[in-house]
Amino acid sequence: MRVPLADLRAQYYELKEEIDAAIVSVIESCRFSGGDRVIRLEEEIAHFCGAEYGVGVASGTDALTLSLIACGVGNGDEVITTPFTFGATTEAIVHAGARPVYVDIDNCTFNIDVERIEQAITPRTRALLPVDLYGQMADRAALVDIARRYNLKLVIDSAQSIGARQNGRPIAMDGDTTTLSFYPTKNLGAYGDGGMILTNDPQIATLLRSLRAHGTGSHKYAYERVGFCSRLDAIQAAVLLAKLPRLPEWNEGRRRNAMLYQELLGDLIDCGFFLPRVEVGNYHIYHQFTVRTPRRDALMDYLRENGVDSEIYYPCPLHLQPAYAYLGYRAGDLPGAEQAAREVLSLPIHPELTEEQITYVAGLIRRFFKQK
Ligand SMILES: *Cc1c(COP(=O)(O)O)cnc(C)c1O
Repeated sequence: MRVPLADLRAQYYELKEEIDAAIVSVIESCRFSGGDRVIRLEEEIAHFCGAEYGVGVASGTDALTLSLIACGVGNGDEVITTPFTFGATTEAIVHAGARPVYVDIDNCTFNIDVERIEQAITPRTRALLPVDLYGQMADRAALVDIARRYNLKLVIDSAQSIGARQNGRPIAMDGDTTTLSFYPTKNLGAYGDGGMILTNDPQIATLLRSLRAHGTGSHKYAYERVGFCSRLDAIQAAVLLAKLPRLPEWNEGRRRNAMLYQELLGDLIDCGFFLPRVEVGNYHIYHQFTVRTPRRDALMDYLRENGVDSEIYYPCPLHLQPAYAYLGYRAGDLPGAEQAAREVLSLPIHPELTEEQITYVAGLIRRFFKQK
Protein backbone atom coordinates (compact mmCIF):
# COMPACT_ATOMS: atom_id res chain seq x y z
CA MET A 1 0.00 0.00 0.00
CA ARG A 2 1.14 3.58 -0.76
CA VAL A 3 0.43 6.27 1.82
CA PRO A 4 1.43 9.79 0.73
CA LEU A 5 1.89 12.76 3.09
CA ALA A 6 -0.70 14.82 1.23
CA ASP A 7 -3.21 14.24 -1.54
CA LEU A 8 -3.93 17.59 -3.17
CA ARG A 9 -5.35 15.95 -6.27
CA ALA A 10 -8.04 14.09 -4.33
CA GLN A 11 -9.08 17.37 -2.69
CA TYR A 12 -9.24 19.07 -6.09
CA TYR A 13 -11.49 16.39 -7.59
CA GLU A 14 -13.80 16.68 -4.61
CA LEU A 15 -14.37 20.37 -5.43
CA LYS A 16 -13.45 20.49 -9.12
CA GLU A 17 -16.63 22.16 -10.36
CA GLU A 18 -16.58 24.98 -7.80
CA ILE A 19 -12.85 25.61 -8.17
CA ASP A 20 -12.85 25.57 -11.97
CA ALA A 21 -15.82 27.96 -12.05
CA ALA A 22 -14.18 30.27 -9.53
CA ILE A 23 -10.96 30.48 -11.56
CA VAL A 24 -12.80 31.04 -14.85
CA SER A 25 -14.92 33.79 -13.31
CA VAL A 26 -11.80 35.75 -12.32
CA ILE A 27 -10.34 35.35 -15.80
CA GLU A 28 -13.60 36.49 -17.40
CA SER A 29 -13.78 39.52 -15.11
CA CYS A 30 -10.13 40.37 -15.91
CA ARG A 31 -9.90 41.75 -12.38
CA PHE A 32 -6.73 39.96 -11.38
CA SER A 33 -5.59 42.19 -8.58
CA GLY A 34 -7.72 43.14 -5.61
CA GLY A 35 -11.48 43.27 -6.18
CA ASP A 36 -14.54 41.72 -4.56
CA ARG A 37 -13.15 38.26 -4.04
CA VAL A 38 -10.13 39.43 -2.11
CA ILE A 39 -12.33 41.64 0.08
CA ARG A 40 -14.82 38.84 0.70
CA LEU A 41 -12.08 36.39 1.57
CA GLU A 42 -10.54 38.88 4.01
CA GLU A 43 -13.91 39.31 5.73
CA GLU A 44 -14.74 35.62 5.88
CA ILE A 45 -11.35 34.51 7.17
CA ALA A 46 -11.17 37.32 9.73
CA HIS A 47 -14.60 36.26 11.01
CA PHE A 48 -13.62 32.57 11.06
CA CYS A 49 -10.46 33.34 13.06
CA GLY A 50 -12.01 35.79 15.54
CA ALA A 51 -10.51 39.04 14.20
CA GLU A 52 -12.03 42.29 13.04
CA TYR A 53 -9.79 42.82 9.99
CA GLY A 54 -8.06 40.62 7.42
CA VAL A 55 -5.38 41.91 5.04
CA GLY A 56 -4.50 39.56 2.19
CA VAL A 57 -0.85 39.50 1.11
CA ALA A 58 1.36 37.54 -1.28
CA SER A 59 2.63 34.91 1.20
CA GLY A 60 2.74 33.81 4.81
CA THR A 61 6.31 35.10 4.95
CA ASP A 62 5.25 38.59 3.83
CA ALA A 63 2.40 38.46 6.36
CA LEU A 64 5.06 38.16 9.09
CA THR A 65 7.44 40.79 7.71
CA LEU A 66 4.68 43.36 7.16
CA SER A 67 3.21 42.61 10.59
CA LEU A 68 6.49 43.31 12.35
CA ILE A 69 6.99 46.55 10.42
CA ALA A 70 3.40 47.66 11.07
CA CYS A 71 3.99 46.99 14.78
CA GLY A 72 6.95 49.36 14.72
CA VAL A 73 9.71 46.75 14.83
CA GLY A 74 12.90 47.95 13.14
CA ASN A 75 16.64 48.47 13.35
CA GLY A 76 18.18 47.78 16.72
CA ASP A 77 15.14 45.95 18.09
CA GLU A 78 15.11 42.40 19.40
CA VAL A 79 12.27 39.98 18.74
CA ILE A 80 11.85 36.91 20.93
CA THR A 81 10.92 33.80 18.95
CA THR A 82 11.24 30.01 18.72
CA PRO A 83 14.13 28.23 17.00
CA PHE A 84 11.94 25.23 16.12
CA THR A 85 9.88 26.39 13.15
CA PHE A 86 9.99 26.98 9.41
CA GLY A 87 12.72 29.43 8.35
CA ALA A 88 10.26 32.18 7.41
CA THR A 89 9.56 33.02 11.04
CA THR A 90 13.13 34.15 11.66
CA GLU A 91 13.62 35.52 8.15
CA ALA A 92 10.80 38.02 8.70
CA ILE A 93 12.50 39.38 11.84
CA VAL A 94 15.74 39.96 9.94
CA HIS A 95 13.95 41.55 6.96
CA ALA A 96 12.23 43.93 9.37
CA GLY A 97 15.73 45.00 10.47
CA ALA A 98 15.61 43.40 13.92
CA ARG A 99 17.57 40.67 15.71
CA PRO A 100 16.03 37.28 16.54
CA VAL A 101 16.42 36.13 20.16
CA TYR A 102 15.61 32.46 20.63
CA VAL A 103 13.81 30.90 23.56
CA ASP A 104 13.77 27.10 23.83
CA ILE A 105 10.63 25.02 23.29
CA ASP A 106 8.31 23.13 25.57
CA ASN A 107 9.04 19.40 25.23
CA CYS A 108 5.39 18.38 25.10
CA THR A 109 3.89 20.79 22.56
CA PHE A 110 7.05 21.86 20.66
CA ASN A 111 5.81 25.47 21.03
CA ILE A 112 7.87 28.24 22.66
CA ASP A 113 8.32 27.64 26.40
CA VAL A 114 6.50 30.63 27.89
CA GLU A 115 8.23 30.06 31.25
CA ARG A 116 11.57 31.03 29.71
CA ILE A 117 10.52 34.18 27.86
CA GLU A 118 10.95 36.70 30.67
CA GLN A 119 14.60 35.88 31.21
CA ALA A 120 15.27 36.66 27.52
CA ILE A 121 13.74 40.15 27.66
CA THR A 122 16.18 43.09 27.44
CA PRO A 123 15.65 46.86 27.06
CA ARG A 124 15.84 46.31 23.27
CA THR A 125 13.05 43.71 23.13
CA ARG A 126 10.22 45.07 21.05
CA ALA A 127 8.02 42.09 20.20
CA LEU A 128 7.23 38.42 20.79
CA LEU A 129 6.89 36.17 17.74
CA PRO A 130 5.60 32.73 18.84
CA VAL A 131 4.43 30.05 16.39
CA ASP A 132 1.32 27.88 16.70
CA LEU A 133 3.28 24.83 15.58
CA TYR A 134 1.75 21.80 13.84
CA GLY A 135 -1.82 23.07 14.41
CA GLN A 136 -1.75 23.64 18.17
CA MET A 137 -1.90 27.15 19.63
CA ALA A 138 0.90 28.44 21.85
CA ASP A 139 -0.17 29.55 25.34
CA ARG A 140 -2.13 32.74 24.60
CA ALA A 141 -2.91 33.75 28.18
CA ALA A 142 0.78 33.64 29.15
CA LEU A 143 1.92 35.43 26.00
CA VAL A 144 -0.64 38.21 26.36
CA ASP A 145 0.30 38.64 30.01
CA ILE A 146 4.03 38.96 29.26
CA ALA A 147 3.40 41.30 26.33
CA ARG A 148 1.26 43.59 28.51
CA ARG A 149 3.63 43.66 31.46
CA TYR A 150 6.69 44.48 29.34
CA ASN A 151 4.89 46.61 26.74
CA LEU A 152 5.80 44.31 23.85
CA LYS A 153 3.97 43.72 20.59
CA LEU A 154 2.59 40.22 20.03
CA VAL A 155 2.83 38.90 16.46
CA ILE A 156 1.66 35.29 16.15
CA ASP A 157 2.73 32.99 13.32
CA SER A 158 -0.36 30.85 12.83
CA ALA A 159 0.54 29.64 9.33
CA GLN A 160 -0.08 26.04 10.45
CA SER A 161 -3.12 26.59 12.63
CA ILE A 162 -6.09 28.09 10.81
CA GLY A 163 -9.19 26.86 12.63
CA ALA A 164 -7.44 25.96 15.91
CA ARG A 165 -8.89 27.18 19.23
CA GLN A 166 -7.76 27.49 22.83
CA ASN A 167 -10.34 27.47 25.60
CA GLY A 168 -12.90 28.21 22.89
CA ARG A 169 -11.00 31.24 21.55
CA PRO A 170 -9.94 31.20 17.90
CA ILE A 171 -6.38 32.02 16.81
CA ALA A 172 -6.67 35.74 16.06
CA MET A 173 -8.39 37.21 19.12
CA ASP A 174 -5.31 38.02 21.16
CA GLY A 175 -2.28 39.08 19.14
CA ASP A 176 -1.55 42.55 17.77
CA THR A 177 -1.45 40.58 14.53
CA THR A 178 -1.86 36.90 13.66
CA THR A 179 -0.54 35.63 10.35
CA LEU A 180 -1.67 32.90 7.96
CA SER A 181 -0.13 31.16 4.97
CA PHE A 182 -2.10 29.67 2.08
CA TYR A 183 0.84 27.70 0.71
CA PRO A 184 -0.72 24.73 -1.18
CA THR A 185 -0.03 22.11 1.50
CA LYS A 186 -1.38 24.14 4.43
CA ASN A 187 -4.77 23.14 5.87
CA LEU A 188 -6.33 25.85 3.68
CA GLY A 189 -4.11 25.89 0.59
CA ALA A 190 -4.23 28.07 -2.51
CA TYR A 191 -3.02 27.07 -5.98
CA GLY A 192 0.10 29.13 -5.59
CA ASP A 193 1.29 31.49 -2.86
CA GLY A 194 -0.80 33.63 -0.56
CA GLY A 195 -1.07 34.82 3.01
CA MET A 196 -3.13 36.99 5.32
CA ILE A 197 -2.69 39.17 8.37
CA LEU A 198 -5.46 39.29 10.98
CA THR A 199 -5.79 42.11 13.48
CA ASN A 200 -8.31 43.85 15.73
CA ASP A 201 -6.51 47.20 15.50
CA PRO A 202 -7.91 49.46 12.75
CA GLN A 203 -4.70 51.52 12.59
CA ILE A 204 -2.55 48.45 12.06
CA ALA A 205 -4.99 47.24 9.37
CA THR A 206 -4.76 50.57 7.52
CA LEU A 207 -0.98 50.57 7.77
CA LEU A 208 -0.81 46.99 6.45
CA ARG A 209 -3.03 47.88 3.47
CA SER A 210 -0.60 50.67 2.65
CA LEU A 211 2.51 48.53 3.15
CA ARG A 212 1.29 45.75 0.84
CA ALA A 213 0.63 48.29 -1.96
CA HIS A 214 3.96 50.16 -2.19
CA GLY A 215 3.26 52.36 0.79
CA THR A 216 0.46 54.23 -0.93
CA GLY A 217 -2.33 55.96 0.94
CA SER A 218 -5.60 57.29 -0.39
CA HIS A 219 -3.97 58.23 -3.72
CA LYS A 220 -2.54 55.66 -6.06
CA TYR A 221 0.76 57.39 -6.74
CA ALA A 222 1.28 59.10 -3.39
CA TYR A 223 3.86 57.13 -1.43
CA GLU A 224 3.49 57.80 2.27
CA ARG A 225 6.08 55.25 3.34
CA VAL A 226 8.40 52.70 1.76
CA GLY A 227 6.20 49.69 1.06
CA PHE A 228 6.17 46.34 -0.67
CA CYS A 229 4.54 44.68 -3.67
CA SER A 230 2.58 42.05 -1.76
CA ARG A 231 -0.99 41.73 -2.94
CA LEU A 232 -3.10 38.58 -2.65
CA ASP A 233 -3.91 37.54 -6.20
CA ALA A 234 -7.62 37.39 -7.12
CA ILE A 235 -7.40 33.89 -8.62
CA GLN A 236 -5.97 32.60 -5.35
CA ALA A 237 -8.71 34.40 -3.40
CA ALA A 238 -11.35 32.75 -5.61
CA VAL A 239 -9.85 29.28 -5.03
CA LEU A 240 -9.68 29.90 -1.28
CA LEU A 241 -13.30 31.13 -1.16
CA ALA A 242 -14.39 27.91 -2.85
CA LYS A 243 -12.46 25.82 -0.32
CA LEU A 244 -13.10 27.76 2.91
CA PRO A 245 -16.58 26.31 3.64
CA ARG A 246 -15.01 22.84 3.73
CA LEU A 247 -12.16 23.72 6.08
CA PRO A 248 -13.96 22.86 9.37
CA GLU A 249 -14.79 19.36 8.16
CA TRP A 250 -11.27 18.86 6.76
CA ASN A 251 -9.84 19.85 10.14
CA GLU A 252 -12.29 17.45 11.81
CA GLY A 253 -11.08 14.73 9.42
CA ARG A 254 -7.51 15.31 10.58
CA ARG A 255 -8.64 15.12 14.21
CA ARG A 256 -10.50 11.88 13.54
CA ASN A 257 -7.35 10.41 11.96
CA ALA A 258 -5.30 11.55 14.96
CA MET A 259 -7.73 9.79 17.31
CA LEU A 260 -7.42 6.59 15.33
CA TYR A 261 -3.61 6.69 15.55
CA GLN A 262 -4.01 7.38 19.26
CA GLU A 263 -6.18 4.29 19.74
CA LEU A 264 -3.87 2.08 17.69
CA LEU A 265 -0.53 3.31 19.07
CA GLY A 266 -1.13 4.83 22.50
CA ASP A 267 0.48 1.91 24.33
CA LEU A 268 3.84 2.22 22.53
CA ILE A 269 4.95 4.88 25.01
CA ASP A 270 6.81 2.07 26.84
CA CYS A 271 8.89 1.54 23.70
CA GLY A 272 10.00 5.19 23.61
CA PHE A 273 7.41 6.22 21.02
CA PHE A 274 5.50 9.40 21.85
CA LEU A 275 2.30 10.55 20.17
CA PRO A 276 1.50 14.31 19.96
CA ARG A 277 0.58 15.87 23.30
CA VAL A 278 -2.37 18.23 23.39
CA GLU A 279 -2.54 20.82 26.16
CA VAL A 280 -5.83 20.99 28.07
CA GLY A 281 -8.18 23.45 26.35
CA ASN A 282 -6.52 23.18 22.91
CA TYR A 283 -8.47 22.26 19.79
CA HIS A 284 -5.55 20.92 17.71
CA ILE A 285 -6.12 20.93 13.94
CA TYR A 286 -3.15 18.66 13.12
CA HIS A 287 -1.51 20.46 10.24
CA GLN A 288 1.12 17.86 11.13
CA PHE A 289 0.77 14.73 13.22
CA THR A 290 4.22 14.69 14.72
CA VAL A 291 5.46 11.79 16.82
CA ARG A 292 8.83 11.51 18.50
CA THR A 293 11.24 8.68 19.14
CA PRO A 294 15.01 8.36 19.59
CA ARG A 295 14.84 5.73 16.80
CA ARG A 296 13.40 8.26 14.36
CA ASP A 297 15.76 7.72 11.39
CA ALA A 298 15.33 3.93 11.43
CA LEU A 299 11.54 4.27 11.73
CA MET A 300 11.46 6.68 8.80
CA ASP A 301 13.47 4.25 6.63
CA TYR A 302 11.22 1.35 7.61
CA LEU A 303 8.08 3.29 6.69
CA ARG A 304 9.57 4.37 3.38
CA GLU A 305 10.54 0.77 2.51
CA ASN A 306 6.89 -0.11 3.05
CA GLY A 307 5.39 2.67 0.93
CA VAL A 308 4.62 5.20 3.66
CA ASP A 309 5.83 8.79 3.33
CA SER A 310 6.85 10.73 6.41
CA GLU A 311 8.81 13.94 6.87
CA ILE A 312 11.00 15.68 9.42
CA TYR A 313 9.73 19.12 10.43
CA TYR A 314 12.37 20.35 11.24
CA PRO A 315 15.73 18.58 10.90
CA CYS A 316 17.86 21.49 12.17
CA PRO A 317 16.75 24.28 14.51
CA LEU A 318 17.20 27.79 13.18
CA HIS A 319 19.87 28.87 15.69
CA LEU A 320 22.25 26.28 14.18
CA GLN A 321 21.61 27.16 10.53
CA PRO A 322 24.44 28.73 8.50
CA ALA A 323 22.29 31.78 7.65
CA TYR A 324 21.99 32.67 11.34
CA ALA A 325 25.51 31.79 12.48
CA TYR A 326 26.11 35.55 12.91
CA LEU A 327 23.76 35.49 15.89
CA GLY A 328 26.42 33.52 17.77
CA TYR A 329 24.43 30.55 19.06
CA ARG A 330 26.18 27.18 19.55
CA ALA A 331 25.05 23.56 19.72
CA GLY A 332 23.78 22.93 23.24
CA ASP A 333 22.34 26.45 23.72
CA LEU A 334 18.75 25.34 23.09
CA PRO A 335 18.72 21.64 23.99
CA GLY A 336 14.95 21.17 23.77
CA ALA A 337 14.81 22.29 20.14
CA GLU A 338 17.96 20.34 19.28
CA GLN A 339 16.60 17.11 20.72
CA ALA A 340 13.25 17.61 18.98
CA ALA A 341 15.08 18.04 15.67
CA ARG A 342 16.70 14.63 16.23
CA GLU A 343 13.51 12.85 17.28
CA VAL A 344 10.44 14.22 15.47
CA LEU A 345 8.66 12.56 12.57
CA SER A 346 5.44 13.73 10.90
CA LEU A 347 3.12 10.95 9.70
CA PRO A 348 0.38 11.16 7.04
CA ILE A 349 -2.70 12.81 8.60
CA HIS A 350 -4.53 14.55 5.73
CA PRO A 351 -8.34 14.21 5.73
CA GLU A 352 -8.45 12.15 2.53
CA LEU A 353 -6.68 9.21 4.24
CA THR A 354 -8.74 6.05 4.60
CA GLU A 355 -9.08 4.02 7.77
CA GLU A 356 -7.27 1.17 5.97
CA GLN A 357 -4.30 3.42 5.26
CA ILE A 358 -4.04 4.56 8.88
CA THR A 359 -4.41 1.00 10.15
CA TYR A 360 -1.64 -0.02 7.75
CA VAL A 361 0.71 2.76 8.95
CA ALA A 362 -0.04 1.98 12.59
CA GLY A 363 0.55 -1.75 11.96
CA LEU A 364 4.00 -1.00 10.52
CA ILE A 365 4.89 1.18 13.49
CA ARG A 366 3.78 -1.54 15.93
CA ARG A 367 5.86 -4.11 14.09
CA PHE A 368 8.87 -1.77 14.08
CA PHE A 369 8.78 -1.30 17.86
CA LYS A 370 7.68 -4.80 18.87
CA GLN A 371 9.86 -6.89 16.57
CA LYS A 372 12.92 -4.86 15.67
C1 LIG B 1 4.35 27.92 5.81
C2 LIG B 1 4.88 28.68 6.94
C3 LIG B 1 5.29 30.03 6.82
C4 LIG B 1 5.47 30.74 5.51
O1 LIG B 1 4.45 30.75 4.65
P1 LIG B 1 4.67 30.99 3.08
O2 LIG B 1 3.28 31.22 2.62
O3 LIG B 1 5.30 29.77 2.51
O4 LIG B 1 5.52 32.21 2.91
C5 LIG B 1 5.68 30.70 7.94
N1 LIG B 1 5.71 30.11 9.14
C6 LIG B 1 5.34 28.82 9.31
C7 LIG B 1 5.39 28.24 10.68
C8 LIG B 1 4.93 28.07 8.22
O5 LIG B 1 4.59 26.79 8.40
